[in-house]
Amino acid sequence: MATLPAYIFHTDCLKHEMGPQHPEAPGRIGAIHDMLLIRGLLDFMQPYDAPLATEAQLARAHSSLYLHSIAAQSPASGSVQIDPDTSMNPYTYRAALRAAGAAVLATDLVLTQRAGFAFCNVRPPGHHAEYGAAGGFCFFNNVAVGIRHALDVHGLERVALVDFDVHHGNGSEDILRDDARVLMCSIFEDKLYPFSGNTPRGANMVNVPLPARSGGDVMRAAITGQWLPALERFAPQMIFVSAGFDGHREDDMGNLGLVEADYAWITRQIVAVAQRHAHGRIVSCLEGGYEPSSLARSAAAHLKVLLGLDD
Ligand SMILES: [Zn+2]
Repeated sequence: MATLPAYIFHTDCLKHEMGPQHPEAPGRIGAIHDMLLIRGLLDFMQPYDAPLATEAQLARAHSSLYLHSIAAQSPASGSVQIDPDTSMNPYTYRAALRAAGAAVLATDLVLTQRAGFAFCNVRPPGHHAEYGAAGGFCFFNNVAVGIRHALDVHGLERVALVDFDVHHGNGSEDILRDDARVLMCSIFEDKLYPFSGNTPRGANMVNVPLPARSGGDVMRAAITGQWLPALERFAPQMIFVSAGFDGHREDDMGNLGLVEADYAWITRQIVAVAQRHAHGRIVSCLEGGYEPSSLARSAAAHLKVLLGLDD
């Protein structure tokens, strides 16, 4: 039985496009794929094609009204605007089903010991997708679909979600608030899209807004002081990661001023908690990160730690 970590991808995810100037572009996941290949990191992982999520899987995180509305809006040609930042082309719906299906497959592989951890290099991202609404480049909340699959299908009782994207994961909070089986820990830049998160919407939310230009030291202190004690108390049986790399100092989307070493550091903290409580079980799903070079280098730093190759 293969025990290599899983790398989940699908070429359908390259076909969803929102216009030539849109930052959430197909080249993002291509840049990550190339960097992992160049650095030799894909040699240590088993590649899998992302399956299409089923309606039953999506319905664990989204209303059926919303699922039917997004399917109905999928255009046969041209594009349809869903919110000011988010649009669908004829391939978007399928790409979104793949991105959510990746999280489901990742969960199955990790919970059946076919992979120690899994990384989903997929788009569209998911953490702004709410129970009943798309938004912020997101259609289905990939991590929330994976988390509910782990809880409802595999029967786990405690799952943590850690979100280090520069933007608050309002969609994940909307879906997972008050689900006592979930602890969500996030850091995000204050006063930035989607302008939420300062007041947590559930007792299971550890929201840490950071002022613009905080830098890595402030971020690390926030995680050490606020995430880690909560994660320790919660003792998750599995950890999902909303891995957004748009807090990098080269990424214009935010101003947290993080660098690759900071993403490696965060990942080491996540791995340590997972090893103590969760048999090392981690599913990491790509969220944001819009400057292809810093995105690819940061994702490689993240994976190098997950693979245990960082020292
Ligand atoms: Zn983001």
